[in-house]
Amino acid sequence: MNGDQIMYTVTGKPGSAKRIIQFPCPACRTAIKSPLHEAGQKFPCPACSVPFVTPGKPELEQQKLAEDAEKERQRRSQREEEEKAMLDYERKATVQSLRSQAESQQDAESVRLASVLSAAKNNPLMRTPSFLHGTPELLILVGILIIIGTLFAGPHEVPELLVCLMLQVAGWFMLVIALLIKIGFGLRRIAIILLATAKN
Ligand SMILES: [Zn+2]
Repeated sequence: MNGDQIMYTVTGKPGSAKRIIQFPCPACRTAIKSPLHEAGQKFPCPACSVPFVTPGKPELEQQKLAEDAEKERQRRSQREEEEKAMLDYERKATVQSLRSQAESQQDAESVRLASVLSAAKNNPLMRTPSFLHGTPELLILVGILIIIGTLFAGPHEVPELLVCLMLQVAGWFMLVIALLIKIGFGLRRIAIILLATAKN
């Protein structure tokens, strides 16, 4: 007996798990209810015991297709989630590695600069030559004493006045020389540091 020839109805939303086929027994017309997953299977009628084939095979096929499609959709969305998580992770890892790379470059840069500066400080040219140690201070002291001394001496006769004037000039000359020594070595130190940092 062919189940498809029995008049039947299927209740429940297509795709839902609980779908019921309702049909009359082909032999005794007793109303029978079967779950959709039994469609196509052979059973004896509970009333007259005549076997029948449960109808609803097309609906069962559609149900299976819908379930497969749903499973596929879930698989795809799960895969998309996983890919998204992977991309997120990779992006974070890239940012992290770029950041630590930049940090280590910065560290290397400051270590290098420190070594350049310490090398520059150890440069013998940074030191004032020993024969000039104390010379600017001595020149300043003597120069100031001469200038003050000649100012207070205050002679009025021409020869003494000329000597005073010359001593004044010599005093100022000593101050200028002392300043030039100080400024000159200071500028040389600055130039050495600037050259060392610019060169490397
Ligand atoms: Zn029956």
